[in-house]
Amino acid sequence: EAALHDSVRTLLGWADGFRDIGIRANADTPRDAQTARNFAAEGIGLCRTEHMFFEGDRIGLMREMIFAEEPDDRRAVLDRLLPLQRADFAALFDIMAGQPVTIRLFDPPLHEFLPADKQGLRELAETLSLPVPEVSARVEALSEYNPMLGMRGVRLGVTVPEIYEMQARAIFEATAETARHGDPVVPEIMIPLVSAMREVELVKARIDAVAASTRAMTGVDFDYRLGVMVETPRACLRAGDIAEHAAFLSFGTNDLTQMTYGLSRDDAGRFMSAYVREGVYEEDPFHLLDTEGVGELIRMGAERGRARSPGVTLSICGEHGGSRRAIAFSRELGFDYVSCSPFRVPVARLAAAQLAILGGDGPARG
Ligand code: PEP
Ligand code: MG
Repeated sequence: EAALHDSVRTLLGWADGFRDIGIRANADTPRDAQTARNFAAEGIGLCRTEHMFFEGDRIGLMREMIFAEEPDDRRAVLDRLLPLQRADFAALFDIMAGQPVTIRLFDPPLHEFLPADKQGLRELAETLSLPVPEVSARVEALSEYNPMLGMRGVRLGVTVPEIYEMQARAIFEATAETARHGDPVVPEIMIPLVSAMREVELVKARIDAVAASTRAMTGVDFDYRLGVMVETPRACLRAGDIAEHAAFLSFGTNDLTQMTYGLSRDDAGRFMSAYVREGVYEEDPFHLLDTEGVGELIRMGAERGRARSPGVTLSICGEHGGSRRAIAFSRELGFDYVSCSPFRVPVARLAAAQLAILGGDGPARG
């Protein structure tokens, strides 16, 4: 499936000799990771872990966890998810064979885990062994008017710490396991939807504690890097503070575009064509990186982050990452890499090489 013609492979290899920015892939599954490897991505820049919980028994377990009222009850459910996550991460480490793997901690809009209809409600009531009206009341209590601006990302991490603790343990146990029989891995753990430094401090302290206990338990002295996904305007403004606690900052241009424009990722279609036709927007800003608006926030975040933490690794991930414009912009800012969908990796490698050879940002589109 991911086989490239030999001549294309040769061309890409040649282009890589000129390229001066890394290209990683966004991958959540072993299949995506294998595609990324086949296309010579230099690691995984974004593994969206919430995608690992929508299949099979896992969504049921996640619901059980969300509806559990006591931390101990949540931990009991998370203990059942731990080996599954450990296997997920071990598989990714194995396929990527020592290349960097950035794992983003759980970042779902919570409504994706709530039952969608009456049938779902009945099933959930059965799973939880509770009467339907009681479950219905709990679902109502968890419902949000704006789930994309609600209990997502690090907010869940701060208020329900057991989830990130389980994920950190799974990552570290997989790291220790991989180190015992292969290349040592330095996992990169990324915190989503940050808007304040304190969020990073809180999560970091807990993850450090999990790392210490996993080192003691496994006897493997692994290392790890903690980073922040910069995808709210406030995180760009406060990137200096945030970078003091982060080894890397990765700009999430999907949410950053949504929040900078005040434009829903899911509902923009209704007026987008009129806006482009009338020349209000050059193009759909979710497709073409808005270097003037969103880009200014990225520039500010990068400058502020570097000023306080000169060695901080910088990148763009999200749908824009593989585009010519995003690569040109990232090169201009001296970013370390971009991360994009695995299938965009070959074109991104070529675009990056062409930009390095020609300089500037080349043709405007792409
Ligand atoms: C982003 O917001 O740019 C991003 C990469 O994360 P997600 O699309 O999963 O919100
Ligand atoms: Mg996001």
